[in-house]
Amino acid sequence: MAAAVSSCVHCGFCLPACPTYKVLGEEMDSPRGRIVLMKEVLEGGLPLTDAAQHLDRCLGCLACETACPSGVRYRDLIEPMREDLVAHRPAAARLHLKTLLRVMASPALFRAAAALGTGAKMLAPALPASVGAMLGLLPPQLPAPDVAPAFTAARGRRRGRVALMTGCVQSVLRPSVANDAIRVLTAQGVEVVVPPGQGCCGALARHAGDHDYGTALAAAHAASFPADVDAVIATAAGCGSSMKDTHTSGAPVLDVCEYLDRLGLMTPLALPAPLRAAYQDACHLAHAQQITAAPRRLLGAIDGLTLAPIADSGLCCGSAGLYNVEQPALAAALGRRKADAVAASGAAMVVSANIGCLTQLGVALAAAGHAVQTAHVVELLAMALPGRRGPQ
Ligand code: SF4
Ligand code: SF4
Repeated sequence: MAAAVSSCVHCGFCLPACPTYKVLGEEMDSPRGRIVLMKEVLEGGLPLTDAAQHLDRCLGCLACETACPSGVRYRDLIEPMREDLVAHRPAAARLHLKTLLRVMASPALFRAAAALGTGAKMLAPALPASVGAMLGLLPPQLPAPDVAPAFTAARGRRRGRVALMTGCVQSVLRPSVANDAIRVLTAQGVEVVVPPGQGCCGALARHAGDHDYGTALAAAHAASFPADVDAVIATAAGCGSSMKDTHTSGAPVLDVCEYLDRLGLMTPLALPAPLRAAYQDACHLAHAQQITAAPRRLLGAIDGLTLAPIADSGLCCGSAGLYNVEQPALAAALGRRKADAVAASGAAMVVSANIGCLTQLGVALAAAGHAVQTAHVVELLAMALPGRRGPQ
């Protein structure tokens, strides 16, 4: 933490990149301001409780790292500080967070809770803001369970073998992502294994400041994956970013876009009707993993697809793990900005590579009255495979 603090030269280049600074315009809600706050807390000159509201408002999006010319590793500051922030919360708030993380880490528990929540959506306005925000993120109806097969053979000449993560929340809210990833990978000659009972990778808990629980989940997750594969494939940017730190032995962890781009597409991809779509960078793909070109190259290979640029595509949409539950007002403001930027691009669909972003974008677009569909990159690639029907 001391190294990260001392490498900041206070130039302020990161300020325009910071979503909370953009919305609030306060130095203490900018990366530079937060680094000063954390320095003072670390040196004992400022009680953590005095800095807490500004640090809690940080999305952890890491846009400041991308913007920083001095290479400040902001994540080395905010991640350990988040643990201290959580430890200083009242007991009831800590219990609430622990419960939420444990429910979300278990697809069976999360499905049961989400099913109850969808039935209670109309009560959202009468409930506390964070509970209302949580219900607001649920779809009117949950998709039917669609368990990914344990093994799917490559089509044609075998070019690779990978193990696929299916995710915890993603497997409930959008099971089509894993199944479309399998369709796309196997069409490119890659055989896919899906380790059973893989559970949660721990990314959400690590991001939310429950490091011990996140680390325990990550260890169990990593142990459930085989080593005799070319890569472990992540289909959610937040998970992939965390798994790159925690899956330390065996095959390398790669985002599905990163893997497909390196492999090279061999199947012609075409949509049955022209489509204008916008690509929204997931922060944990663009800023945490520095992957921005690969998804655009993959989408650029689809015949019939026009990629519409959106203003500030690297600016967080307000999802950021549990942020849209813990900071609902700021998350909604960021969601509104993003929804308006997508609508202004004239796109009929917005594409991203993270379940949290897709959920937040869908809610924000609907709230703003914009009729724009959402899709994961692999969902759109799957729509363009030979024999598929295109966007529904
Ligand atoms: S851009 Fe980097 S060095 Fe400059 S204020 Fe921001 S974090 Fe510090
Ligand atoms: S992580 Fe994101 S929200 Fe936090 S200081 Fe950096 S740019 Fe701002």
